[in-house]
Amino acid sequence: MNMIERLVRPNIRTLEPYSSARKEFSGRGRIFLDANENPFGSPIPGAHNRYPDPLQTGLKDLIAARFGVAPESIFVGNGSDEAIDLLFRVFCEPRTDNVIICPPTYGMYEVSAAINDVSVRRASLTARFGLDREAIADATDDRSKLLFICSPNNPTGNAFDPDEIARIASDFGGIVVVDEAYGEFSDRGSMITRLADHENVVVLRTFSKAWGLAALRVGFAVAGAGIVGLLNNIKPPYNVSGIAQDAIIDAFRNEVRVAESVAMTIAGRDRLAADLSRLRSVERVFPSDANFLLVRIGDADGAYRFLLSRGIVVRNRNNVELCEGCLRITIGDDHENDAVLAALKDFESL
Ligand SMILES: *Cc1c(COP(=O)(O)O)cnc(C)c1O
Repeated sequence: MNMIERLVRPNIRTLEPYSSARKEFSGRGRIFLDANENPFGSPIPGAHNRYPDPLQTGLKDLIAARFGVAPESIFVGNGSDEAIDLLFRVFCEPRTDNVIICPPTYGMYEVSAAINDVSVRRASLTARFGLDREAIADATDDRSKLLFICSPNNPTGNAFDPDEIARIASDFGGIVVVDEAYGEFSDRGSMITRLADHENVVVLRTFSKAWGLAALRVGFAVAGAGIVGLLNNIKPPYNVSGIAQDAIIDAFRNEVRVAESVAMTIAGRDRLAADLSRLRSVERVFPSDANFLLVRIGDADGAYRFLLSRGIVVRNRNNVELCEGCLRITIGDDHENDAVLAALKDFESL
């Protein structure tokens, strides 16, 4: 057994996957009477009566070309949140295995762990929001199956050095999940380019943030073909809708628009960071490689409520470790950023 096979739950290793109608058939069909579909079409414009491609071949070819990886090393999910849940189900034996997170970080890792009845060990970031390699090593034992590293990290906004992630991946005996949901906003390199050297790394990306397609619910994982095959074996057969697959394929034709909105977001981020740091009530604007700012304001709860009273919704992170007194503010368009700034000015002159 290779390293990956050894880490897999025994029931998943021996699983006979569901074989959908569209998967069993290969070749050129003319009349499809294999999937109990409606031959008369759909009650809305467009033909949605046939099941979509279960393995999203067209979409994967585009992702593969864009990121310079093989289609076999891509798993497409109903949001990257689906990939997170499936990674638990492939690798973590409930009540037996554990996973490691580096808080403060994305909340879904812990929720997915709880849903799967898997315990979570915390190797907190350092006071400067760096990865604590020693804390990770201390938290790890031979039942530690997943280590989540979110880079750029939500909610702190900073990206980690890929060399350091690579070192941690070399030390870790389980799977290292590098969540790059905000990767497009950062100029630190992606771990995707280093997958060949690290068979235990899975990189998560999403169409929900920079791509502006959150409503479609599409994310993907890039990893060795072995890991991707395991995810495919346990996913619901038609996990990404036909509308979503088609829409993302369309989006690739207009990728220039994605680059433009990333550039506008980064310009807005720099401007908002500078403006916020001039406010008396703002103690600190943390540097960000993402599309949000973590801002330390003495009275975060008060500022949060005041913004709400103006109809402005931000994320209150005051109760999160190392984020005491902080709000997480998504970068909006110029008008929205101005509105936040004006409201916080009013708040401090109360
Ligand atoms: C927003 C976000 C995601 C995106 O999840 P989707 O299910 O793809 O929408 C993943 N990871 C992090 C850290 C996020 O902040």
